[in-house]
Amino acid sequence: MSSNKPVTDTADVRPGRLGEEQIAANFADMHPPLTPSEAVIDADRCYFCYAAPCTTACPTGIDIPGFIQKIRSGNLKGSAHTILSENIMGGMCARVCPTEVLCEQACVRNTHEDRPVRIGLLQRYATDPVFDEAIPLFERAPATGRTVAVVGGGPAGLSCAHRLAMLGHSATVFEPNEKLGGLNEYGIAAYKTPDDFAAREVAYILSIGGIDVRTGAALGKDFSLGELRAQYDAVFLGTGLAGVNDLGLDKEQVEGVVNAVDYIATLRQVESKASLPVGRRVVVIGGGMTAIDIAVQSKALGAEEVTIAYRRGQESMNASRYEQEFAQVRGVMVRYWSSPRRLLTQDGRVRAVEFESTRIASGGRLEGTGQTFELAADVVFKAIGQKVLWERLAETAEIVDVREDRIVVDEEGRTSLPGVWAGGDCVYGGADLTVSAVQDGKLAALSIDRFLRHPE
Ligand SMILES: Cc1cc2nc3c(=O)[nH]c(=O)nc-3n(C[C@H](O)[C@H](O)[C@H](O)COP(=O)(O)OP(=O)(O)OC[C@H]3O[C@@H](n4cnc5c(N)ncnc54)[C@H](O)[C@@H]3O)c2cc1C
Ligand code: SF4
Repeated sequence: MSSNKPVTDTADVRPGRLGEEQIAANFADMHPPLTPSEAVIDADRCYFCYAAPCTTACPTGIDIPGFIQKIRSGNLKGSAHTILSENIMGGMCARVCPTEVLCEQACVRNTHEDRPVRIGLLQRYATDPVFDEAIPLFERAPATGRTVAVVGGGPAGLSCAHRLAMLGHSATVFEPNEKLGGLNEYGIAAYKTPDDFAAREVAYILSIGGIDVRTGAALGKDFSLGELRAQYDAVFLGTGLAGVNDLGLDKEQVEGVVNAVDYIATLRQVESKASLPVGRRVVVIGGGMTAIDIAVQSKALGAEEVTIAYRRGQESMNASRYEQEFAQVRGVMVRYWSSPRRLLTQDGRVRAVEFESTRIASGGRLEGTGQTFELAADVVFKAIGQKVLWERLAETAEIVDVREDRIVVDEEGRTSLPGVWAGGDCVYGGADLTVSAVQDGKLAALSIDRFLRHPE
């Protein structure tokens, strides 16, 4: 089991390391919106490619030249419709997509110049007014009388529910948390989505109608998959990764060793960020987005020394080169080729981590060099990945095919169990990105629709 302890106060772990004003500045919007003239200049840079590579690179297949053309002609509402009809979370994706490895990486401007069209920011420019002014762009089709249980109110579940509602089906979303949104609400770095955008987007999605919401309701605790299958015409599982991988070290339960995602969830919900206890010296173990996010946010809260330790080299990190550089610019140290060996403690608290340097052995395997070093730490964040919380979903695991601890689905999102679909982070082979979860939910809804209209 992973530890889930709050970070508690000591001499070197305390709130108020920075004043409210400084913290507000540190957490300001990472990519401020474009002004109208900036948007037009950027839109003019688009070559409007035929068979546009950016569209192919977008997991939701947004017609990118199409929406940019509409920005150029001043038709912002039409532009937003083009985006949101493929990706109902196009507002959030505009803020959180790693565009440098998706649409913008594919932009042909990269080969002629060194800078792509800023697709993410243009997408935000087109969609912001829709959420700011709650402009209705989608309508429910006449009710079909068919019902679908959607388990999990994250990007996958909400995208599925919205598409089902558009198609006239009734969706019921079951969510254990108080708020919908999944990691958009509880996980994404605060500086990527300020001003309660996640909640505003959820409200917009629900405003289509035909989506019933049950919060405080968890599969495996409050109801079973068997019950859902009996009560609904179809079921969609979008439960994400609610568990956290352990480091596999002794004393992981000790004070000061904390799950990064739990701390981020608290940070996202707390009213005053200055009230959060912050370590003076913070060590983050991991190499993905979560590691970058907890490191940068610790620094933004006033931690003096923040080090990410990753057991392989820079190019193997799940976090993109852009994200790694972003962390470094924000004052985070990254130590590659460093594998944790021991947690060193004093009076029941962590005080340091012992690492062993690593290298690639001749067969390509990662091995320790035998050389060790210590990093002093008041707080150690575990950020080596999340997993499906099978303890809770034991019944589901018994009846649905699972590979490497994730649910197996086909290209339409169908599980091995008839009438049950799945998508997002909980499925095998996914990209673990918001945009991919949205696509999974959309494709599953379209497949469910075909099944409900033409059951075999
Ligand atoms: C710290 C962090 C930062 C990230 N940053 C980015 C980023 O910048 N850009 C990006 O593209 N991606 C990012 N990601 C990944 C992205 O957030 C996920 O890929 C995406 O949220 C997956 O959506 P989902 O709907 O599958 O799962 P989730 O967002 O996890 O939603 C799953 C929902 O299911 C609910 N649930 C869980 N168990 C049950 C149950 N038993 N019964 C009912 N409901 C249940 C959960 O409470 C949750 O609301 C980040 C992830 C993390 C952890
Ligand atoms: S959804 Fe993401 S990947 Fe797709 S076009 Fe928008 S920013 Fe790019």
